[in-house]
Amino acid sequence: MANEVRVRFAPSPTGPFHIGGARSALFNWLFARKMGGKMILRIEDTDLERSSRESEENIKAALKWLGMNWDEGIDVGGENGPYRQTERLEIYKKYTEKLLAEGKAYYCYCTDEELEAERQALVAEGKMPRYMGKCRHLTPEQVEQYKAEGRKPTVRFKVPADKQILVRDMVRGDVVFDSNGIGDFVIVKSDGIPTYNYAVVIDDALMHITHVIRAEEHLSNTPRQCLIYDALGFEKPTFGHISLILGKDHTKMSKRHGATSVDQYRQLGYLPEAIDNFLALLGWAPNSEQEIFSMDELVKEFSMDHVAKNPAVFDIDKLNWINQHYMRKLSRDEFYEAAKPHMVKKGFITGEEFGDKLEWLKDVVATAQQHVSYAAQVPDDVAMYFTDNFDFENDDAKNVLLEETVPQVIRLLFDKLPKLEVLDGPSVKATFKAIQKETKLGGKNVFMPIRVALTGNQHGPELAEMVPLLGLARTVSRIKNSLDKVGVQLY
Ligand code: GLU
Repeated sequence: MANEVRVRFAPSPTGPFHIGGARSALFNWLFARKMGGKMILRIEDTDLERSSRESEENIKAALKWLGMNWDEGIDVGGENGPYRQTERLEIYKKYTEKLLAEGKAYYCYCTDEELEAERQALVAEGKMPRYMGKCRHLTPEQVEQYKAEGRKPTVRFKVPADKQILVRDMVRGDVVFDSNGIGDFVIVKSDGIPTYNYAVVIDDALMHITHVIRAEEHLSNTPRQCLIYDALGFEKPTFGHISLILGKDHTKMSKRHGATSVDQYRQLGYLPEAIDNFLALLGWAPNSEQEIFSMDELVKEFSMDHVAKNPAVFDIDKLNWINQHYMRKLSRDEFYEAAKPHMVKKGFITGEEFGDKLEWLKDVVATAQQHVSYAAQVPDDVAMYFTDNFDFENDDAKNVLLEETVPQVIRLLFDKLPKLEVLDGPSVKATFKAIQKETKLGGKNVFMPIRVALTGNQHGPELAEMVPLLGLARTVSRIKNSLDKVGVQLY
C-alpha cells in the first residue's frame, strides 16, 4: 500500500531488555496499530561481541508477554528480509561498493593509535575532536605501503562541508545540524561489519520504514544517517525521538533506581497490562485525566502529537499503583496463579497442592489481593499462615499479653469458639462482641491480645478473616504457645 505507515523496532540484543526499549517498542506498536500500519521487528546484532541469541530470545519473549505482535521481521518473515543484520552483510556490501565507486566514501588505513593522537592534538588546540580526513586523498603508493604493512582499512563516509542538515522530528520539531561539526565517520569496520549509523539507514530504506520512532539518545546520530540517505538517494522517513527516562531524582534511569529490565518486573510479578499502561504514560499524555488504559484504549487514544519533549520520570510508586489496580481485578484463581511461583520460591507451598488444601491456599492468598502492589509481595503478606512458631515483634507486643484482663478474655474465647456451628467471619465477629459484652471491656482490650497471641504482631489483617483460615486447632494452639512464652496462666 502506498501510504501505509511502517514502523520498526530495532533492538540490539546485547543484554537484558531495558524498560526504555520496551517503551520505544510500545510507542511504535501503538502508532502502527493506531494508523492501521505495520510493525517490523529487526535485530541489530552488528556488535558481534556483545550480541547474543539469548538476548534476542529474551526481547521477543518480552514483546510477546507485553502483547506486542509484529507483522514482519524476525521469526514471522516478510518480503523485506532477512531481518537480522548479520544476515544482511551482502546487502550492505553492495551499497558500500556504490559509495566507494561514486567517491562518496573511502578506505581509511589509520590505526587506533594514529586516531587517538589526532584526537588528543585537536583537544589540546581546544577544537572538537573528529576525524580530519587524512585518508581522503591517499596516493596509490601510500595505499600500497599501508597494505604491505598489513593494515586492514575501514570505510569512511565523506561528509560534505558546509551543509545544513534538517531533521524533521515529530516530537522535537525541525532540528538543524551543521555538517562541519561531523567528521568523516566509519561506515564499515575493518572486519567488514557495518556500523549502526550505516546499516540502520539501508535497512530502514529497504524495509520501507515511514516513521522512525526511537530514543532521544539517537537524535545526535540522525544527521549522519540523513547524509547517508542523501548519498544513496533514499527518501528519508519521518523521525520521532522520544525523551529520556529519568529516575525520580531526575538523573538518567539506571540500576541504582531499582529494576531496569522488563524481565525483572515480570519476575516480581508485575502484570503485562500494567507495564504497558505505565510505559505508555512515560512520555505520552492523554487528552484527559484518565490514567488507567487497556491496550485497546491506548491504541484508540495514542497520538505522537501528545508525546512530550521533556524527559519522562520513572515513578515506581505510580507503577505500583497501576499494577495494584490490575491485580485487584484478577479473579481468585488468576490471583492465585500469579502468586503461586512466589509462594513456591518462599517454600510455603510446593505448587502441587489439590483438593481442600488448594482451596484453603487460594483463600489464604486471596487475603493479600486488595493490598499488595505486585505478586512477589504476597508471601510476606500471608507468611503468618505458614509459621506457627513466631516471635513477638517487640516488647510492646509482649506487654499486651501481660495485661491482667487477658486470661479472662482468652478463657471466654476458648469456651465459645468450639461451640460455633461454623467458624467464619460473622461468627467470629459475633464471638468477639459477646466477649466484650460479658467482660465490659473495650474492643481493643479484646482484639489486641488475641491478635498478638495469634501473630506476635500488633498490626495485621482482620481477625475475622484470620481465625477462620487458621481454623480452631491452630488458633487455640497458637494462643496457648504465646501465653506460655510470656508465662501467663489461663486457669
Ligand atoms: N539498535 C539500536 C538500539 O537498540 C536501534 C536504534 C534505532 O532505533 O535506530 O539502540
